[in-house]
Amino acid sequence: MAAMPSLKIDNARFVVTVDPQRRIMRDASILIDNGRIAGVGKAAELAGVSADRVIDGRNFVVTPGFVNGHMHISYAHAVRGIFPDDAGSPLNYVFKLQLAMTEEEEHATTLLGLVELLKSGTVCFVDPGSTKFPDACLQAYEDSGIRVMLGECVSDGDAPFPLPRYGASEAVDRTSAFIKKWHGRLNGRVRAWAMPFSPETCSADLLRGVKRLADEHRTSLTLHHGSGAKARADYQKQGAASPTQYLESLGLLGPNVVLAHVLGVDDAEIDAMARTGTAAAMCPVTAAKGARGVGEHGRLPELLAKGVKVALGCDSPNNSNHLDIVRALNMAAIQYKDARQDMKQIPAETALELATLTGAQALGVGDDIGSIEPGKKADLVLFDTQRPEWQTLFNPINNLVYNADGRSVHTVIVDGRVVVDAYRQSFVDEPKLFSRVQEMGEKLLARTGVSFPRSRWPFV
Ligand SMILES: [Zn+2]
Repeated sequence: MAAMPSLKIDNARFVVTVDPQRRIMRDASILIDNGRIAGVGKAAELAGVSADRVIDGRNFVVTPGFVNGHMHISYAHAVRGIFPDDAGSPLNYVFKLQLAMTEEEEHATTLLGLVELLKSGTVCFVDPGSTKFPDACLQAYEDSGIRVMLGECVSDGDAPFPLPRYGASEAVDRTSAFIKKWHGRLNGRVRAWAMPFSPETCSADLLRGVKRLADEHRTSLTLHHGSGAKARADYQKQGAASPTQYLESLGLLGPNVVLAHVLGVDDAEIDAMARTGTAAAMCPVTAAKGARGVGEHGRLPELLAKGVKVALGCDSPNNSNHLDIVRALNMAAIQYKDARQDMKQIPAETALELATLTGAQALGVGDDIGSIEPGKKADLVLFDTQRPEWQTLFNPINNLVYNADGRSVHTVIVDGRVVVDAYRQSFVDEPKLFSRVQEMGEKLLARTGVSFPRSRWPFV
């Protein structure tokens, strides 16, 4: 592979490093060579170092690239916003639509998802098993430059909605083939994980089989996970204290396991996660919009207090509806303050850690990304402070978490490559893509017969 051009972010207004000392460097420069961070220091000290390309950083706040730990990228872009607020759980429709997606549709909605993710600063995301045609989407991952954790969604039990269902051994074989085919592609930017849907829809044999594969291939496993009094009572009828302790009894917990959503866990479940090093991906906007009761069921402060690594997720364009991790970290920071009536809950710095270093650690990539330190992969976001929402600027983390959103992302760098350059990406023609996906959405709804009133207010 040809050497990549070197890059220098020169004299940035602030660099929020998320390094071990959590330094926020003023008037700082970052050197990038061969895809990695070669140096971070005061601009004056690095003034003599040149690079193939120099980006003037005077108006930028630079942060590590963001990670999104639970982001279904497949079906929903084609039909975003179709579910009225009073529709109840949309899951039946969700899987019906998703199963009906063609390869061409999925490729287009993936491109659209990638545009939205990258332009709001996400450099790495977990697609929890929604991509059915990874071959068709590989070019999109390659062209966009993003990092992606992929897997095939498998289940072998009854589900209240139509999931991909196989026998347990076939599900394990499919997962094995998927990992062998995909893990490490695109210079390591594609990672393949085991993705059983949930403990309720998968047998113990299936779960144990795919966990063994994740261990053998030194990769990870994610599954949907919830608890709460009713779930615990259901599991207790079958001899387990809770969903989490059931998973522990199967050997399903561990540092390479990411439980998604994780609402309603009790102290014993949190202890089980902490003692096994199990990580979590929580979707604060989905929880709030879906009326999941964060006040009663949200345990993010307790998970963090026990040292559990937590990433944030945006779930899906029909759950949180947006893919903007900056809005998700805003929600994470504010919803616990309100729920607990305690302003000390989830400080802005903690929220930012969830979308950077802590989130990267949760996803097993904390040694490579998540902070701005020499030797790490060069994944960076440059926020444009020449916008009203960034005024006035005294504390860049408060401004980022409470004032701004992903729309002030100016430039994004992944693996040392500039993938969003002055608000523009160059891997797809956006207006053409937008009209194509709109048309696909109309056809998908007609084909599947999924229909809701378009609005509670009249269209005229
Ligand atoms: Zn999900």
